[in-house]
Amino acid sequence: MSDEKSLNFIEEIIEKDLAEGNYTNILTRFPPEPNGYLHIGHAKSICLNFGLALKYGGKTNLRFDDTNPSTEETEYVNSIKEDVEWLGFTWANEFYASDYFENLYQYAIQLIHKGLAYVDDSTSEEIAEQKGTPTIPGKRNKYALRTVEENLQLFADMRNGKYADGAKVLRAKIDMANANMLLRDPILYRIKHAHHHRTGDNWCIYPMYDFAHGQSDSLENITHSICTLEFIPHRALYDWFIEKLEIFPSHQYEFARLNMTYTVMSKRKLLQLVNENYVTGWDDPRMPTITGMRRRGYTPESIRDFCDKIGVAKRENLIDVGLLEFCVREHLNKIALRRMVVCDPIKVVITNFHNEVELLQSENNPEDSNGGFREIPFSKEIYIEREDFMENPPKKYFRLAPGQMVRLKSAYIIKCDEVIKDANNNIIEIHCSYIPESKSGHDTSGLHVKGTLHWVSIAHAITAEIRLYDRLFTVEDVANETEDFKTYINENSLTTIAKVYAEPALQDSNISARYQFLRKGYFTVDKEATNNQLIFNRTVTLKDTWAKEIKKQ
Ligand code: ATP
Ligand code: MG
Repeated sequence: MSDEKSLNFIEEIIEKDLAEGNYTNILTRFPPEPNGYLHIGHAKSICLNFGLALKYGGKTNLRFDDTNPSTEETEYVNSIKEDVEWLGFTWANEFYASDYFENLYQYAIQLIHKGLAYVDDSTSEEIAEQKGTPTIPGKRNKYALRTVEENLQLFADMRNGKYADGAKVLRAKIDMANANMLLRDPILYRIKHAHHHRTGDNWCIYPMYDFAHGQSDSLENITHSICTLEFIPHRALYDWFIEKLEIFPSHQYEFARLNMTYTVMSKRKLLQLVNENYVTGWDDPRMPTITGMRRRGYTPESIRDFCDKIGVAKRENLIDVGLLEFCVREHLNKIALRRMVVCDPIKVVITNFHNEVELLQSENNPEDSNGGFREIPFSKEIYIEREDFMENPPKKYFRLAPGQMVRLKSAYIIKCDEVIKDANNNIIEIHCSYIPESKSGHDTSGLHVKGTLHWVSIAHAITAEIRLYDRLFTVEDVANETEDFKTYINENSLTTIAKVYAEPALQDSNISARYQFLRKGYFTVDKEATNNQLIFNRTVTLKDTWAKEIKKQ
């Protein structure tokens, strides 16, 4: 079932597995730890796991990897489900690693029975020291000599709360000299008298990631367990447990995590930004979180397209955020309703327009033939953008200037006749005349003008606040800089314009609407908007302004 695009390496593996009959049903999983909100890196993993299952007629489980009681919260669980759904994916099952605590406990007992696990009373410092270094083999201590019976008893006592945190651990007995340090008798269980968001106080011992993840995969019959490159050394351990426990043979495959320019992509760092008030919350529109991007106006389609375009790499790389913005622009161009908004107004009086109002028709979206029309009121007094007028323009200035003509979008051609100033020489208003034969769509004037300006009728305009966002950091590769990442915060990442003038069609905007404000960018309604106060977030500019900056240098 290959399409035109060449297969990525995981697709090749799956096609081979299907061809050889290793598996008949492809089952993947997305395994977030509920200790923060999902970010665009997770979106990559979601699109990959769900996308593969969809492509090969399989299924995907959503599994919360909630084995660490101290950092996990139900708030995060709910946000993760919301984000996965919003991205457009449906999971076959909602599972929790914590649901397997009893299974995992029994697996540990099996290992003890086989002489493959023991209770160790050493401190974490002693354990670290006995482990050796990559070049010096580790040494086993006396606790490794404990009998099966002794270990069974001690492990049961651990579970029953007989010991304090850190007093004992359960370790696998593998190979203290292995070049892969993770195989040097890794810890399987630690004691932690902590409340768990699901299991409450039922447990005071918790399995380590390595002892939980592979077995959870296996319990669910996951065929292809996809994770990021840092788990390569863990694969040997993943396979060892499955082999020794003789359980369903899930297999782990690793791909390069997504890193993106001008942002950070670790929940720990994102949490710092939230807790230290660098941003207003996880859903701040400058955050690389899915909830932040949603609030900013990104669409699920554009994020999926981005994840598809970056492909599946085997080596770490840094993706230009410009590519994400390109994908967003491409999608919004197709769906966004065109509207006119003036941010920094200057008044224009159309001296020869004598009707109270004329309702003009304008296409909602020229890219969408089914997009329909809206009405725009035109009247004697309008606002245009201050920067669209110059009293003494240079050559090739095609906007409004004394004696010059421009077209008002979807309306008429106007000519600037006079500039009215106050005693201090400040411009108060500009007097223009309009050409009645030049109406857009019915133009018989024979005039050709180069500039088209957006505008609003003053009497009909509504006001709104707009919020413009820029990169959250000033350097490309934030994670690889020498100083603390917060040193590189962009102080100017948010610009608020408290009062802009908008055409009345924007009055009934709702949170899911996407707009292109002519010449300004793509916008969406912010969640803080009320009936009395419209607020718009700029999702993305119309063009890549940063690309221009780079060319200029
Ligand atoms: P973080 O470092 O941001 O906390 P994590 O890997 O600890 O990320 P998990 O909740 O454990 O977060 O991740 C769930 C899944 O998403 C894992 O399979 C993980 O490999 C994947 N994932 C996390 N970050 C990225 C990323 N930047 N690119 C691709 N996949 C990622
Ligand atoms: Mg993690």
